[in-house]
Amino acid sequence: MISSNELRAALEAVSAAAKLTRAVRAAASPDTLQKGDRSPVTVADYGSQAVVCRTIDRYFPNVPIIAEESASALRKPENLSVLERVTGFVEDLVPDATPSDVTKWIDRGGAKDPSGEFWTLDPIDGTKGFLRGDQYAVALALIRDGKPVVAALACPALKHPTDGSIGTILWATAGGGCFQTSGSLERAQPVRVTRTKETALACMSESVESGHSSHDSSARVAALLGITSRPRRMDSQAKYAVVARGEADIYMRLPVRPSYDEWIWDHAAGALVVTEAGGMVTDIFGLELDFSHGAKLLKNTGVVATNGHLHAAVLDALAREEISAV
Ligand code: AMP
Ligand code: MG
Repeated sequence: MISSNELRAALEAVSAAAKLTRAVRAAASPDTLQKGDRSPVTVADYGSQAVVCRTIDRYFPNVPIIAEESASALRKPENLSVLERVTGFVEDLVPDATPSDVTKWIDRGGAKDPSGEFWTLDPIDGTKGFLRGDQYAVALALIRDGKPVVAALACPALKHPTDGSIGTILWATAGGGCFQTSGSLERAQPVRVTRTKETALACMSESVESGHSSHDSSARVAALLGITSRPRRMDSQAKYAVVARGEADIYMRLPVRPSYDEWIWDHAAGALVVTEAGGMVTDIFGLELDFSHGAKLLKNTGVVATNGHLHAAVLDALAREEISAV
């Protein structure tokens, strides 16, 4: 049974992190972003992880967190100015935060191979989207016995479908459904996947980066399924969000190289959000995603998320096109 404390903590954490990441992006000069200078993403990554881990730690001091970043580089004397910038953004949310608090909170996310119950965090998923001014996400999930049971997915650049505001948070609990809001939690609405059953009518979503998911393979699968619409390319787990709320029918992540294992924080929150919105998520062979092998999905290959109705047809097309870990 999920206590509402876990969901409350997760939402408080990602809301604060989303605020911080928006502030960092707003403060970066357009020139910095155009040149692809990674400093804004670095500051936002560290700041987001610090505020999320601080919040989770206050609620659940004994539950491990596996997060993407570590503060070891940030502690080096040559990076003092970065640490000061990160601390400045954290202080806007936590007024008495010090640089040493910030590094301590970041390293709270350094659990290795926990079992049973743990949180996993991607403080900025879709860093390339963050820099390009496109989609990115703060993705947090609680894993229990190898399965995500609470998910909070903040998409600070994703438009709310009805009120048009920018910045949406989606969340889900196992068995409790999936919701989204762009404002207060009380104004949240349930979200639902599409009812599309005919493959030719399906709308696909995939990574912008062909280095993260093979565009060639997905084009072959789309052709076999009779899909004529162009794929909606987005960075980050915003792809799971658009499948969950019925703006796309299929999200495929198809291997580009044989040895790559997916990170758990790139999928845990998104997978629960889609499942609880009525969809289905497996790897490309139809296996359930298995979050019980540390930081990586060692037992899975690629990912397929659909509205459920189309899942068997997509898996069949992947098999017929002999898509595997190339
Ligand atoms: P996306 O925004 O969906 O393209 O995914 C961004 C994520 O892709 C990052 O958080 C990385 O962890 C992950 N990534 C990096 N290299 C690869 C790769 N070769 N295959 C799949 N995912 C990757
Ligand atoms: Mg990521």
